[in-house]
Amino acid sequence: MRKRMIAGNWKMNKTFSEAIVLAQGLAKELEGGTGDVDVVVAPPAVNLKGVAEVIEKEEAPFALSAQNVYWEEAGAYTGETAPNMLEAVGATYCIIGHSERRDYFGETDEDINKKAKALMAHGIVPISCCGESLEIREAGTHVEFVVDQIKKDTAGLEITDPSKYVIAYEPIWAIGTGKTATADDAQEVCGAIRKTLVEIFGEETAAGIRILYGGSANPSNIAGFLEKEDVDGALVGGASLKADGFADMVHSAMA
Ligand code: PEP
Repeated sequence: MRKRMIAGNWKMNKTFSEAIVLAQGLAKELEGGTGDVDVVVAPPAVNLKGVAEVIEKEEAPFALSAQNVYWEEAGAYTGETAPNMLEAVGATYCIIGHSERRDYFGETDEDINKKAKALMAHGIVPISCCGESLEIREAGTHVEFVVDQIKKDTAGLEITDPSKYVIAYEPIWAIGTGKTATADDAQEVCGAIRKTLVEIFGEETAAGIRILYGGSANPSNIAGFLEKEDVDGALVGGASLKADGFADMVHSAMA
């Protein structure tokens, strides 16, 4: 059975001290535990170590994720971060392929595939994002578009433990815009992703891979998404920046 996951993408928000305060606040909100829900937070890279220390000190029930990685092991790649560096500061997850990285930094599916392989070689779980633009949604080709992304992003991956590869379906038009997809919109695409995973990896592996919804998810709408068969949790941007609201989303997932 797939464990639900609620992951918070802090994006380029919070200075070091603010990140510590947010992590401490979340640790307090979740001190009763998170039941059968995996909770993950993804602070900016410079704050990973500080948040890792909060997690350790407070015995907080959430895991640490990076927001990006480079696929090489070391070398002359100014500004980049290697998987072993993330591992060394305690990151056990890493978001890859976020639409903001695709749009603003020109990341391709081939890059995302290389990042997934590099992370998995270090035992770091990719949270691999996919999703269509408004233009594609309006043209009605969103399912084909996302299925194509999934095929390219997973090409040649060896998934022995399906709990160690996570997909986030994030329709770009719903990210940070306040416009959410309906739960049925999310299920339509997440269901198609699951079918594609069956074709690629077989029934058993596909049944164990978590597919999250992301795009203006918040405490009031999360329950509707979680009712859907192929939606196993949420990747949350804006609403992850307040400890109490994010904890409410975790509690909804526990219900
Ligand atoms: C995201 O950036 O992954 C995201 C889903 O953002 P928001 O929840 O703010 O739409």
